[in-house]
Amino acid sequence: MARKTIIVGNWKMNHNAATTCAILADLKAKVAGISGIDIGICPTATSLVAAVETAAGSNVAIGAQNVHWAADGAYTGEISTSMLQELGVTYAIVGHSERREYFGETNDGVNKRALAALAAGITPIVCVGESKDERVSERTAAVVTEQITGSLAGFTGEQLVASVIAYEPVWAIGTGLTASPEQAQDVHALIRSLIRDSHGAAVADAVRIQYGGSVKAANVAELMACPDIDGALVGGASLKADDFAALLTNAG
Ligand code: PEP
Repeated sequence: MARKTIIVGNWKMNHNAATTCAILADLKAKVAGISGIDIGICPTATSLVAAVETAAGSNVAIGAQNVHWAADGAYTGEISTSMLQELGVTYAIVGHSERREYFGETNDGVNKRALAALAAGITPIVCVGESKDERVSERTAAVVTEQITGSLAGFTGEQLVASVIAYEPVWAIGTGLTASPEQAQDVHALIRSLIRDSHGAAVADAVRIQYGGSVKAANVAELMACPDIDGALVGGASLKADDFAALLTNAG
């Protein structure tokens, strides 16, 4: 089954609203001719309003870098799904390894965030991935299996298909080290087989799984050529319009 490639830039805590608008305006002009890829940018929360306005009418969708599960209440620093809905946000990254590592997010919390996003019609990009120690000690499959099982607990097949999974080996994020296409493909195949076991072949064949970890214009094509890699979540190489446009061009 054909799965549409999805490539999303995660700007993390970079760019203010002014630079976000300038880069997005440049990017949308540069990628206007690309139709075979779902393109997204996840700027910092304070730039979301301006980003949605700047990207309006283009083929660049805007996403948030996180979302909370509660409708409202005493959750200082968090943002609810309805707040994102009001802005016209398309995606919400949940469970990024930086959130898991620095802010103590757990599979259970990631699960609640993802389910809340889905209930609001926002596509969650659910991140999983092993650390360097876990890979070296050959625990990658066990760690990713636990993260997938926990983060996607209780999902219906429909909810899985409406989600995006991002496999991001922590040791490859922002380090310049990329998983080889074989290493990435192996884990993507594992994730798809877990979904096949739990929800059947039709669901497994339809779910899109991105790779993330130092993807750039020079290596995106070989990664996208792998049968179970359906896109990329991109940090550093999405921060400049020229770099990200080149990456998107090479991915197609
Ligand atoms: C990320 O932040 O999700 C990421 C993959 O970053 P980078 O592309 O910089 O490794």
